[in-house]
Amino acid sequence: MQIFYARYLAALPVDAIQCIAQTRRRDRCPYPVLAPDTPAGEWALLPVTAPKRHGKLAPLTANMAIYDLTHLSYAEQLRWRTQHCPAHAAAPDVAHIALADWEVFDPRLHHQHVHTRLPAAARKRSRRS
Ligand SMILES: [Zn+2]
Repeated sequence: MQIFYARYLAALPVDAIQCIAQTRRRDRCPYPVLAPDTPAGEWALLPVTAPKRHGKLAPLTANMAIYDLTHLSYAEQLRWRTQHCPAHAAAPDVAHIALADWEVFDPRLHHQHVHTRLPAAARKRSRRS
């Protein structure tokens, strides 16, 4: 996933990422971050690039499927980064029941997550449009 031009690896599929806020009954909020009434990200094939290490860039090998959120508003990207549903993104001092699941993506460590084709659902969508 790409947020604020940084890449992250999520622990779960995009539509299964759950809000980390604690509800008043001390349960975890049941709502997904990908809410039906908010703008969605877009699957895109983007070059695999590694973060700079020892001053040199890793070689580009291929394009990889990335769920890109960088066209969304600052507030929406922040909501994804903090892993909140829309209601909890609006709550000023919400308690968290879990840590956000993001891991900074590193193609050398996470090569098994590099897919050179878009997910089937995204391919179907782009064919229709
Ligand atoms: Zn929530």
